[in-house]
Amino acid sequence: MNPPAKISPATLAKLAKLGIHHRADLLLHLPLRYEDETHLAPIATVQAGTTVQVQGSIAHSEIAFRPRRTLVCRLEDGSGELYLRFLNFYPSQQKQLAVGRQIRAVGEVRMGYFGLEMVHPKCRAVDDHTPLQPSLTPVYPTTAGLAQPVLRKLIGNALDTLPLSDTLPDALLQRLQLSGFADSIRLLHSPTPDISASSLEERSHAAWRRIKFDELLAQQLSMRVHHRERGKRTAPRLAPHQNLTAQLIKNLPFALTGAQQRTFAGISQDLAQPHPMQRLLLGDVGSGKTIVAALAALQAIENGYQAALMAPTEILAEQHYLKLRDWLEPLGLAPVWLSGSMKKKDRQLAAGHIASGETLLAIGTHALFQEQVSFHKLGLAIVDEQHKFGVQQRLELRNKGKGRETEPHQLMMSATPIPRTLAMSYYADLDVSVIDELPPGRTPVITKLVSDERRDEVIERVRAACMAGQQAYWVCPLIDESETLQLQTALETYQLLGETFPDLRVGLVHGKLDNAEKARVMAAFKAGELQLLVATTVIEVGVDVPNASLMVIDHAERMGLAQLHQLRGRVGRGAAQSLCILLYQRPLSELARARLKIIFESNDGFAIAQHDLQLRGPGELLGARQSGVAMLRFADISADEDLLNHARLAADELLHDFPEAAQAHLQRWMANKQDYLHV
Ligand code: ADP
Ligand code: MG
Repeated sequence: MNPPAKISPATLAKLAKLGIHHRADLLLHLPLRYEDETHLAPIATVQAGTTVQVQGSIAHSEIAFRPRRTLVCRLEDGSGELYLRFLNFYPSQQKQLAVGRQIRAVGEVRMGYFGLEMVHPKCRAVDDHTPLQPSLTPVYPTTAGLAQPVLRKLIGNALDTLPLSDTLPDALLQRLQLSGFADSIRLLHSPTPDISASSLEERSHAAWRRIKFDELLAQQLSMRVHHRERGKRTAPRLAPHQNLTAQLIKNLPFALTGAQQRTFAGISQDLAQPHPMQRLLLGDVGSGKTIVAALAALQAIENGYQAALMAPTEILAEQHYLKLRDWLEPLGLAPVWLSGSMKKKDRQLAAGHIASGETLLAIGTHALFQEQVSFHKLGLAIVDEQHKFGVQQRLELRNKGKGRETEPHQLMMSATPIPRTLAMSYYADLDVSVIDELPPGRTPVITKLVSDERRDEVIERVRAACMAGQQAYWVCPLIDESETLQLQTALETYQLLGETFPDLRVGLVHGKLDNAEKARVMAAFKAGELQLLVATTVIEVGVDVPNASLMVIDHAERMGLAQLHQLRGRVGRGAAQSLCILLYQRPLSELARARLKIIFESNDGFAIAQHDLQLRGPGELLGARQSGVAMLRFADISADEDLLNHARLAADELLHDFPEAAQAHLQRWMANKQDYLHV
């Protein structure tokens, strides 16, 4: 932090924790709420449940033991009396609150044993002439050891000394009826008492509108700038020769859906550009993203470049490997498999084929993009279920192209963990294509909610289904985020179901199985040798066994919406009517009840994601760490959609007509976040 800095290193460290690195950051550290110390409430008028400021003299003060040592004082103001209680107190406080002292106290009033009371109010000694605060007192987000008065002082100083010039042209402000930056920021830090506290706390006040707009605009500008930067980087031109791709399409046992054709056409066009594609292919579970990925890979291969397909779990990667091998073998191509759990020798062998360029398509887990693996001529990197990958892995992938003249194109795929409008406006560095149509002939999965008390009936149902030739999954949940416990539950369930159904062939798959074993179990299930598969949530992503038509999700109340939807997407892949039973245990929390209701009522991933957004808010939904997306602090994408639309247009306008204003705006809002945003 730059001067005037008589700020101790300890305080600086605490400010850094709050994301305050420059003095200018203090300006944008906005209050969470306010306390009203602008007037005094006569004690006779105060009501339990409200926060007020009162003033009076101490009529009585004692240390009581009930049961803990407590300082109890009675405050009288002529209109009434009120008790002040302190559980942990210093001798100095006791002195300050001696009988006869005149005290101003601020706090929440509640009904106590003796009548109205305040517990641990903020108190100070006053006399008849002590002035009231001229404006509402801000309460800032803070961290342990950083007191409100310290923050207030620092922020006050920043407001007095830093330039608050507007970054936006007047014409724009007028057109969008936005208030000025300086006025807005001053108002939010110290609102006058006539301003409605609720409009501030609900963030609907015009000053908040301006701040949210600024934040959204900064995000939009940053995306555009990033996009432009990408336009300056080079990638190989992978023109659509349409020999391999056309052959694959011809060989498929199905016709591509309109949405698959459209999204592939978009990708195909991007690949032919001399700049790196960074595209997100969004499509609901089962919408058929894999074939689009395969076609993209073939377009790279047609041009003599390599392609790589990475998936977040071994099971999924392996399944892709098998599927693509089947698709590509008739074209004379053999993909190579690489994962972290391979024997060292095999891995080295695979890495050797990749490095020599002998292999044109590599499929595997994120081991593919670790340092030891270097590609001969990587033209396209495909990442399936990209929301499962962290920022670190995305960076690794990106760095694969660093230091070379050209970098690979990137295709990310995801099954709608977020609503599409959100994705489009939110992912800083990606273009988005959406597959909005399912392949024909699917019968929607029927979902049933069944309480745990009827577990026996469910077990019987599973048996009957398997006896009738169907295949079923039994999914055990993640327990307390603990893999060990999850494993234990899966083992127990496996044992129990195995004993209950001696006549059924039951398999077990979980994350701790070694790779070969996992592959063997999945292959046996796919081939119909196993009738019932007990699984942990490792099967959440991507697993594709069309004959499986029954799924039981145990303790469904513990799972998130996206997870439930993904799991349910494992059935309903064939022509048979599928059923998904959500077994839940009472009592249900309000959130769990809301989630189960949504998953019961909707089969549409986009709609579910929209609800998820409303239940959890974008912060938790996206999780900055997971998605590599910068978090919004003030604006709320779903509630402030109108502002987002304005910000989108304004970003184009500024970059085109007022580039300096755009620069100044980014500087104010993104000075330290630029790197982060680019992850
Ligand atoms: P996801 O989008 O969830 O990754 P997949 O690519 O695994 O979906 O496809 C799901 C299933 O649908 C696969 O069995 C796949 O072969 C099949 N499929 C894909 N496209 C079509 C299509 N156009 N017509 C019929 N079946 C299709
Ligand atoms: Mg998939």
